[in-house]
Amino acid sequence: MATYWTRTLIPTLRQDPAEAEVPSHRLMLRAGLIRQLSAGLYTYLPLGWRALHKAIQIVRAEMDAAGAAEMFMPAIEPIELLAETKREIEYGPDLFRFEDRRGHVNALAPTHEEVITEAMRAYVESYRQLPLNLYQIQTKFRDEPRPRFGVLRCREFIMKDAYSFHLTVDGPGGLDETYRRMYDAYCRIFDRCGLRYEIVEAESGPIGGSASHEFMVICDTGEDTILKSDKGNFASNVAKCAIGEREWSLEGAPTGDLEKVYTPDCGSIEAVGKFMKVKPKHLLKTLIYFSGEDVVIAVVRGDHNVNEGKLKAVWGGSVTLDEELCAQLFPIGFVGPHLVAERDTLNLVVDYDAAQDQFWASGANEIDHHVKHFNWKRDVLDLIDSSRVKVADIRNAQDGDPSPIGDGGVLRAHKGIEVGHVFKLGTKYSDAMGFTVLDENQKQRLVIMGCYGIGLGRILAAAIETSHDEDGIIWPAAIAPYCVHIVPIKFDGELCKICSDLAGELEAAGLDVLIDDRPERPGVKFKDADLIGCPVRLTVSEKTLAKDSVELKLRRERESKGELVRRDQIVARCADIISGERV
Ligand code: ATP
Ligand code: MG
Repeated sequence: MATYWTRTLIPTLRQDPAEAEVPSHRLMLRAGLIRQLSAGLYTYLPLGWRALHKAIQIVRAEMDAAGAAEMFMPAIEPIELLAETKREIEYGPDLFRFEDRRGHVNALAPTHEEVITEAMRAYVESYRQLPLNLYQIQTKFRDEPRPRFGVLRCREFIMKDAYSFHLTVDGPGGLDETYRRMYDAYCRIFDRCGLRYEIVEAESGPIGGSASHEFMVICDTGEDTILKSDKGNFASNVAKCAIGEREWSLEGAPTGDLEKVYTPDCGSIEAVGKFMKVKPKHLLKTLIYFSGEDVVIAVVRGDHNVNEGKLKAVWGGSVTLDEELCAQLFPIGFVGPHLVAERDTLNLVVDYDAAQDQFWASGANEIDHHVKHFNWKRDVLDLIDSSRVKVADIRNAQDGDPSPIGDGGVLRAHKGIEVGHVFKLGTKYSDAMGFTVLDENQKQRLVIMGCYGIGLGRILAAAIETSHDEDGIIWPAAIAPYCVHIVPIKFDGELCKICSDLAGELEAAGLDVLIDDRPERPGVKFKDADLIGCPVRLTVSEKTLAKDSVELKLRRERESKGELVRRDQIVARCADIISGERV
C-alpha cells in the first residue's frame, strides 16, 4: 500500500537546525528522518526508519548469501563477562553500566564478542562443528566522549555484527576463507547501497599482515584520515599507515655550540617556534611514555605526530601517557632528547625524520628553556649506551609521504567515514574465555575467530554526505525511503483516484510510493520532495492529465524540467529507472 503523507509523520523543517555541523546531520533532521532525544540518542522517524530498513535488508540478504546465520543476543550483559576479557577496564568510561534490582552490575553491550563466545563455548566441543559464522542486527551502546554528527557518532546505534569460528587460519574452513567471503559480501553490500568507498588496511590484529580492513566512504566531513598512494595500489588508515623508506643518520657534526635560550611560557611547539623563530620542522617534539619500570622518550619532528601503535610495536611492549606522573618527574613542555642521559631507566625512540643531521632546536630539560644546535652525536650518542636508542617509523603518515610499497608512489590524505570493519581476531577471546575444541587428534585447541561489523545508521548518513545538493538529499534508489514520490498539484476530486490507482500499479511492480496528499501549495510540496530526495517524482495535475500524461522528474537531474510521460507507460518507465539505478 502506498503511503499518504498525511497518514505518516514527516516533519520537514524549512530552516537549517543550528546544532547540525555536517550536511547529513542537517538534512536528516530537515527531511524529518530522525529526531534527537538527547546527546547521541536519536529516534528514527518513519522516513528514516524505512531507509534504514532497506539498508538492513540488503545487509541481511548478503550475510545470508555469504553463509552466515542470523541470531539475536541481549543488549544487556553481566559485567563478569566483560571482566573475563578485561574489556570491562579497556572500554573505560565508554561502557554504560548499571546495577539491577538484585545489585548485579550489568553493561549495555558496546559489541558482542563475549556474549557470542560464551554461547559458543557452551555448545561447540569438536572441530567437526566448525567453521561457523553467526551474525545479528542489534543495538549497541557506547558512551562516546564526543557524540556528534547525528547518527554518524551516537551513543546508541544499530550494528550488524558477525563472528566466525575456525580451527585453522588457512585452508578450507579456515579463517582466511571466511574473511575473504565477508570482505566480498561487504563490497556487494556497499555497492548495492549505492556508496562509493575505499577499502583500507587498518590496525592489524594478532594475526598480522592485512588482518583488518575498514570500508571507508571518502568525504571531507569524515572523522578518519586515510592515506592513498597516487599509484592506486595502497590505501591505509592513518592509525596503521606505514611510510616508505627514509634515510637517516645520528652521526653528523654539530651545527654550532649548544645554546640555551630563555623561552618563558612557551610550552607548545607553535609557541616555541614563533618565539625562537624556528620552523616546526627544525624543532624536536618529545613525548614521554611509561612502560612498566621503563620510560620511553618518543621523538618526532615538530610538524609530525607520534603514532602510538607504531611506537608500541617498535618498543615491543605497551606504552602509556600519564600526564600527571610525567609532570611530577619531568619539565613537561621543555624536555629534549638529551634527557635520556640523566637516568638509566630512560630510553629513546627516534623517528626517521627526526634522526637527521641538521639544525635542531629542542627542549633544554629545564622549565622555561630550550636549546639551539642540539646534536644527536654530541648530546646523546656519545653519552649513553647505544642500546638505549632506537630509530624507527613512529609517526603518523601524512600527505606527501612516500608510499610504503616503495614504487615511487606518493601518499595523499583523505577524510573518510568508516561504515564497516572486518577483523581477524585470532584467539584473543577464545583464549581469555577458555573456548577450546577437540581437533582430529583429540587435542584441545583454541578456536580462531574473526569479527565483522557494519554501522547501519552510518550507511544512511554516508550516502547523504556524498549525495545531496543545496535543496536536499539525493537518495541512491536502493535505500531511498520511497522509490517514487507522487505530487498531485491539488489533491481532490478525480486526482485522488488517479493518484491512488497509479500508486497501486507502481506498488504492484515492486516500487514503493509516497503520495503527498497535503492541502499545501505546489511550491511547498516540490521543495519538500527535493528535500526528502526520492529518486523519481511524478507530478499529477489536470494539465498533465488533459494530455493523458504525468510529469516525471528525476531527483538527481536537478536542472531538468521534467518530462511528460504517457499514463500507460509510466510504470514501466519508473521500473526501468529504479532497476537501472540499483546494482
Ligand atoms: P570508530 O573508530 O568510528 O569509533 P569503531 O572502530 O569503534 O569506530 P567498531 O567497533 O569496529 O567501530 O564497530 C563497527 C562499526 O560500527 C563501525 O565500522 C561503524 O560503522 C559503526 N560504529 C561504531 N561506533 C559508532 C557510533 N558511535 N555511532 C554510530 N556508528 C558507529
Ligand atoms: Mg569507536
